[in-house]
Amino acid sequence: MRLRNITGSREAIAASPYVIQEAVQPDCPGTWHKIFGNDNPVHIEIGMGKGKFIHTMAREHSGINYVGIEKYSSVLLRAIQKMEQEELPNLKFLRMDAEDIVKVFGAGEVDRIYLNFSDPWPKDRHAKRRLPSRQFLARYEVILKEEGCLEFKTDNRELFDFAVEELEPAGWKAQVVTYDLHSDAVLMQGNVMTEYEEKFSAMGNPICKYIIYPLANCEAICRNC
Ligand code: SAM
Repeated sequence: MRLRNITGSREAIAASPYVIQEAVQPDCPGTWHKIFGNDNPVHIEIGMGKGKFIHTMAREHSGINYVGIEKYSSVLLRAIQKMEQEELPNLKFLRMDAEDIVKVFGAGEVDRIYLNFSDPWPKDRHAKRRLPSRQFLARYEVILKEEGCLEFKTDNRELFDFAVEELEPAGWKAQVVTYDLHSDAVLMQGNVMTEYEEKFSAMGNPICKYIIYPLANCEAICRNC
């Protein structure tokens, strides 16, 4: 999603109390509990777009701290506007490229990662830019807590097939895989629709979803099963 460049969006983001400005500073990893002022779990959405999903999640789960990450100022601005209408103490934003994610979160600092309707980057030579690629999974593995997991939803079957194929070489394992989320009553419990999910499911596109975790954390995950 790339909205028209909105004049003043960078300045608005720089002045916003909802955006963590100093996040790419070297002392940011490990400080998220200080930023939120509590020890609650930290869940992040990478490529949040206009922020409908993460804003709703933060409203519904006040005991979880949420961080919404978006690359483009013009898109992030929309999420900030939602916060101006309904302020939530457990939601913060970062404007950054997810390539730098390990500079912002410490090892094991994140309890859950959401990827929703990530950009497909259809050309093979751009595969490593896809957010569920093995290159990104390696970064996520660093910041994810031992018992943590990653959830990914998309209507793009090619991207989803690619994401599933990346699991083995990346050393990750699927706990849940569905090719039709909206027909699964159990998985739909508590499902919050993203902007893209609303749009594409209304067009009749089935929504794929997986929940995955690093194989190295298998023991910790199974202890909690
Ligand atoms: N998650 C939202 C939804 O489901 O409605 C938006 C989906 S939109 C297709 C993908 C979003 O991811 C865009 O807003 C894009 O700017 C953002 N994005 C793509 N690559 C990114 C990256 N490397 N780091 C941060 N954001 C990224």
